[in-house]
Amino acid sequence: MATVACREAILAIKPYVPGKPIEEVQRELGVKDVIKLASNENPLGPSPDAVRAIQEAAERVYLYPDGNCYYLKNALAEKLGFSPENIIVGNGTDEIIKMLAETYLNPGDEIVVAAPTFSEYEFAAQVMAGRAIKVPCRSFRHDLKAMAAHITPRTKMVFICNPNNPTGTIVGQMLLDNFLKEVPPSVLVVLDEAYADYVTAEHYPDSLAYVRYGRDNVIVLRTFSKIYGLAGLRVGFAVAVPEVIRNLNRVREPFNVNLIAQAAAIAALRDEAHYKKSREVNIEGKQYLYEQFTALGLEYVPTEANFIFVNIRQDSRTVFQELLKRGVIVRTGDIFGYDNFLRVTIGTPRQNERFIKVLREVLG
Ligand SMILES: *Cc1c(COP(=O)(O)O)cnc(C)c1O
Repeated sequence: MATVACREAILAIKPYVPGKPIEEVQRELGVKDVIKLASNENPLGPSPDAVRAIQEAAERVYLYPDGNCYYLKNALAEKLGFSPENIIVGNGTDEIIKMLAETYLNPGDEIVVAAPTFSEYEFAAQVMAGRAIKVPCRSFRHDLKAMAAHITPRTKMVFICNPNNPTGTIVGQMLLDNFLKEVPPSVLVVLDEAYADYVTAEHYPDSLAYVRYGRDNVIVLRTFSKIYGLAGLRVGFAVAVPEVIRNLNRVREPFNVNLIAQAAAIAALRDEAHYKKSREVNIEGKQYLYEQFTALGLEYVPTEANFIFVNIRQDSRTVFQELLKRGVIVRTGDIFGYDNFLRVTIGTPRQNERFIKVLREVLG
């Protein structure tokens, strides 16, 4: 009996491999005390204000959420100095990436991305029967010149992950300015700034200014999953000129962001102390891990995000398994084409110390 044929385009898609959940490691390896430094979540957790907002919102879940995210969009607009017409909210930034593909890609269209980078861009393109043109990084950075050179009449979007996942590197203001001068107006430049809140470098671009001055082929993506500690609720947003936002809204599910997530995001946005503390913990943890890696003789890529890409000079899958047995979950580099690298999320001081202790053990 023949089964129903699925669309040809999706056959090439490799299912996303997420960071291992804590419960899975506890279940499968029988390890009780497990820490996850695998998915770049905020080790401090969410703002207590967000938790209270979640509790209060719980009683209202029999109601559909506001499909328009009115209050959240207004809060974001005010904070960022935009109008709500410049903003769209998604069920995580992941959903917005998929909406971008649904909005702009016809079969055979191309997107240009870096390699290595976040895999969702290629995934979204593949779902729409589009193609991702992967341009190798240079010294772990986006090679914007080479990326510009790969733009053809088929190109609809260029994705710049800034800071880049998994390398933690950034594209600076000047390079981005120059790149944008070369990009034709028919190509949308997607600046994925999921980790913008952790950046300390002064030459990090003021990307929202492009949108503010009416540049209509730039869209900036941000998320509540990282510094705001709400990964489990799924909220992300994008900022662009109203016309781009209107087109994205055509493909948006009517109630894409749930009621609890909206309430939590508004509360999280207001808690500036928690935000600041999260940034500080990250900066301290980064210094500690740099020192420890150096002491271990390991090279790492200096990061502007909340994770570090480190060269452990042996198969990361083996090291990953050994770390797992000792209750520490990280990400292996093989999924990004770097077999000997680990990507580790910067944790609390105690988590970082534990990670270094077990890494020392495992590396021998
Ligand atoms: C984590 C991450 C996101 C955020 O995804 P959500 O769907 O909002 O959780 C977006 N882009 C990159 C590069 C990321 O690493």
